[in-house]
Amino acid sequence: MDDDGGVKYAQSTHMLIAEEVGKYMGLNGESLSRFKLGSKLPDEEDSDWWPPGCPDRLCNHIYDPVVTFGRAPRSCNEKVESAINYARNGNYLDAYLDLGKASHYMTDVGNPYHANRKPLGK
Ligand SMILES: [Zn+2]
Repeated sequence: MDDDGGVKYAQSTHMLIAEEVGKYMGLNGESLSRFKLGSKLPDEEDSDWWPPGCPDRLCNHIYDPVVTFGRAPRSCNEKVESAINYARNGNYLDAYLDLGKASHYMTDVGNPYHANRKPLGK
């Protein structure tokens, strides 16, 4: 929360959560660094305000289960599948990078502004 009582998820928030989760998973060194880096990248990579109505910058990061709006679960799943493919090919550093990206989408929907299209308190 910020000083005004608002809820923010900055890239540093994603990286802080990823660091704690990564350590809990037993990651360290370059594996942990890649996992943490991946956790912040989706906000940079999903920069398109296209298509209209549900642009990547918005919809890849949200999911409202009441009105089933947003693609965060699909975005998360795509990165997990990509990580599995990297791991199967022995590329564990890119696997951890994409698992970090998957964690981004998962933690985004823990933020009320990413999971409820109605303003808080309404
Ligand atoms: Zn996001």
